[in-house]
Amino acid sequence: MTYDPENIFAKILRGEIPCNKIYEDEFSLAFHDINPQAPVHALVIPKGEYISMADFTRNAPAELIAGFMRAVGKVADDLGVTDAGYRTIANAGPNSHQEVPHLHIHILAGRPLGPMLD
Ligand code: C5P
Repeated sequence: MTYDPENIFAKILRGEIPCNKIYEDEFSLAFHDINPQAPVHALVIPKGEYISMADFTRNAPAELIAGFMRAVGKVADDLGVTDAGYRTIANAGPNSHQEVPHLHIHILAGRPLGPMLD
């Protein structure tokens, strides 16, 4: 599968579509999910053209991988959910129900989330 530069998160990264931004640095952008599944539902995406965690960890420079993972922890801290706890999810591929083919980590928090799977 090749990266589709017209996917919606690529458009958000290029500033062609707005988002409700939480955090941005040279490696990452974080914003509130448009259709929240919990009181806190953020998405963190890496800058660059990466479809999935497998694509990212195989092909991204180590500095970007480290910067992106740091951003996930920082966003959770900034949202004030670290102590109460939160869940991170990165869907990848058809069985996971990944809708947007640009790597994104969901941060879900703000209530007890229950068991892992529906
Ligand atoms: O993991 P998956 O690809 O299914 O998640 C995509 C997420 O992107 C959804 O939770 C959806 O609500 C969110 N989204 C968004 N802003 C958009 C388009 C999708 O927050 N403009």
